[in-house]
Amino acid sequence: MSDGFIATGGWIEVIAGVMFSGKSEELMRRVRRATIARKRVQLFKSHLDDRYAGLHRVSSHDGRTHEAIPIDSSAQVAQRIDAMAQVIAIDEVQFLDSGIVALVTALAEKGRRVILAGVDTDFRGEPFGAMPQLMAVAESVTKLHAICVVCGNPASRNQRLIDGEPARWDSPTIMVGAAQSYEARCRACHVVLRDDRQQVLLM
Ligand code: ADP
Ligand code: ZN
Repeated sequence: MSDGFIATGGWIEVIAGVMFSGKSEELMRRVRRATIARKRVQLFKSHLDDRYAGLHRVSSHDGRTHEAIPIDSSAQVAQRIDAMAQVIAIDEVQFLDSGIVALVTALAEKGRRVILAGVDTDFRGEPFGAMPQLMAVAESVTKLHAICVVCGNPASRNQRLIDGEPARWDSPTIMVGAAQSYEARCRACHVVLRDDRQQVLLM
């Protein structure tokens, strides 16, 4: 670490992984411990995730919740930062625009501890949003795995299902009238349907 890091005490931590890998649990564990240490903590959560319709809370899949400030963009995070906050935590950070990279870098340079949790790959298995940049600039990266619902091995992929079938590579983000769901799967059990041309390009 550089002297600058030691002098300011600011840094960035990223908790990355598939859905159900325990990112929210781990984020909340770190937030709780910072609170016990009497740090002033602010917790933000991207709006786009409404899995339990709890827009003002971070809910982990084990049901624990914590009050959170809902935000849709990096500009909204910047507007709502409490100047006194020592720890800034953001859940579902993969949904935010690329401006989040400069914002969290500036916060760390001003001595803030920044804790980010996000899904690192999309349903195609490709890098998600600003996650690659955030993982690169972070001092600490924790990559978590879920359990593959097909074979029981560690899961590193998000399986998207539309009406119960594996989604096509080019399927739209929102499909009107279709029931979509996600499962945690390992690389071997992860299925993305591609057309023939895309298959050839891969070979
Ligand atoms: P994330 O924020 O990464 O989506 P959460 O912290 O919300 O994860 O939830 C993790 C919890 O989800 C686990 O502790 C476990 O109880 C539950 N869970 C449900 N399905 C799975 C799975 N396939 N693999 C691992 N944990 C799962
Ligand atoms: Zn598997």
